[in-house]
Amino acid sequence: MSKCRMDLNSLADYLDKKMGESDSARIETHLAAGCESCASQIQWINRVSSAFIFGDVSHAPVLQIDKAVSIFRDLYTKPVQINWLAQLVYDSLSSLQPIMARGERSASRHRLYQTENFEIDLWEDPISQQESYLIGQVIPVNGSDPIHWDSVQLFCRDGNEISLVQEGSEFHASAVPSGNYRLSIMISGNILKVENLALGA
Ligand SMILES: [Zn+2]
Repeated sequence: MSKCRMDLNSLADYLDKKMGESDSARIETHLAAGCESCASQIQWINRVSSAFIFGDVSHAPVLQIDKAVSIFRDLYTKPVQINWLAQLVYDSLSSLQPIMARGERSASRHRLYQTENFEIDLWEDPISQQESYLIGQVIPVNGSDPIHWDSVQLFCRDGNEISLVQEGSEFHASAVPSGNYRLSIMISGNILKVENLALGA
């Protein structure tokens, strides 16, 4: 039902005879050409409308058709939001690698989270006893360039909410208070998230 660009309102207006002659003729020609998408949408409007009233849909009160249209929208045209929950697969703090191995002490904590398709790379640098600097990026598991995300937010248990700043493909937060967070990354309307992200702990 995705190829035809006819919108449902136009079809409803056509059925409801609320349309001008030329528009109405245009839709009639389109329907006569046998568009399956429109045929099934009309079938659907008819079915829903007859659930409210009996009789020919072309005589249905405007209100009923509008209601049918909005039900259709809710059912079929609302984008389905996918929730990906990433799991911790690496944490420099708990790795067996000795802290002094590289001959210098690094305070950075590096964590890697993963879903089936994405990796979230997180670097945390303490800037004081109570705050840290957080940098991250999202990389596809197949190893191509970092993913372009829409927004990144941290939600704290206490209700505190932090929007991270974009720098190239990275997201940055300069002074995140210590706490337990949910990291939420919007990617094309879907959410990639990390639960129980302890910062500064
Ligand atoms: Zn069509």
